[in-house]
Amino acid sequence: MVWRAKKNPSLPIPASLFEAAARHGGRIKTDVNFADFPIPLGGEWLHVEADELKRIVGDESVLIETEIVGYGSDATVGYFQDGEFSLGPSDDTDLKFVGETWLTFFETYVLPSVTDQLQLETEIVTVDYSGPEVVLTDRSGGEHRGDAVLVAVPPKIIKDKAIKFVPDLPVGQREAFDAANIWGGMKVFIEFAERFYPTALVVADTNDNDGQKLYYDAAYGQRTATNVLGLFTVGDQSIPYQELDPGEALRDYILAELDEIFDGAATRNYVKHISQNWNEERFIGQAYLADSGDWRLPPRMREAIDGRVLFAGASFTGGSDWGSVHTAAASARRAVSELLSP
Ligand SMILES: Cc1cc2nc3c(=O)[nH]c(=O)nc-3n(C[C@H](O)[C@H](O)[C@H](O)COP(=O)(O)OP(=O)(O)OC[C@H]3O[C@@H](n4cnc5c(N)ncnc54)[C@H](O)[C@@H]3O)c2cc1C
Repeated sequence: MVWRAKKNPSLPIPASLFEAAARHGGRIKTDVNFADFPIPLGGEWLHVEADELKRIVGDESVLIETEIVGYGSDATVGYFQDGEFSLGPSDDTDLKFVGETWLTFFETYVLPSVTDQLQLETEIVTVDYSGPEVVLTDRSGGEHRGDAVLVAVPPKIIKDKAIKFVPDLPVGQREAFDAANIWGGMKVFIEFAERFYPTALVVADTNDNDGQKLYYDAAYGQRTATNVLGLFTVGDQSIPYQELDPGEALRDYILAELDEIFDGAATRNYVKHISQNWNEERFIGQAYLADSGDWRLPPRMREAIDGRVLFAGASFTGGSDWGSVHTAAASARRAVSELLSP
């Protein structure tokens, strides 16, 4: 991604943005039909302080009206282990968007500055940097020429060689993609007639080096009377859910899991659900680089080639933090400034 903040008076960067999908947003996809507040099907929380939003907008003169909220003293965490349920206070420091999502934030403050440069449904299949120009070829055979390219696709796209690089990536960089442990993932949202669950629900052994799973009150902090429970799961923990038909089979599996903890309250209160399996999302096919991944790989994956082929995105970081929306934005800022530096 390449962007310029809304209302930024400087000239637009002379760049074209090619997006394979028919929609913008990638892994911050949002559903606006399920409830009376937007449902974040991918990235949801802000994992760092709120000032990060200002850094993303990149223009001090822009008033950011996005409302965010932290978890207050009313937030609880339920633990379920060995058939026993216990409740404690939450120490979650993440922030949530109120009546918005990461997607609507970007749509308000970032997207307007690049709308004219964005071409949807343009899947790039070849990046040829063998000559003096960088030549991109899209799925329909269209050629796009430029001085440089910033590749901002999920790492699995590169790992799976869905984009052909000519010449191929340097050996060390290709090895880094091959070695990367990329988690799959899924989110499910369930509406219930009553709220019988805590703010977060941790089931024993569901947060380890191979993945994560968390049920949480998705309506927490929202101005709504609708009860929506979220399920966030990545890595090995997500596999049992991904293997099920997303309709009745997934519903029944989740209700059985919750009924055991809450004495049948899930089945009694079930209204409807939606799910998003990120492994099946075209042009993405993944959740994010494993939290437990090797910190030496992201810096190797993002190495610029010849100053003309650059990489950006949540996984293309310095190696201390990766896999979040704020790391995607920071990585893009870094790559763009590298690209524009004389
Ligand atoms: C289930 C889940 C929960 C998450 N929760 C959080 C959270 O709470 N907080 C947080 O900060 N982050 C979270 N994340 C991570 C966060 O959403 C992502 O790390 C971030 O949005 C990735 O941004 P990106 O720009 O790097 O990649 P993407 O958003 O994946 O964008 C890459 C784009 O490249 C396009 N593309 C792919 N191939 C091609 C091609 N050949 N040609 C042209 N375009 C192509 C794709 O269509 C896509 O739009 C979560 C992710 C998942 C999946």
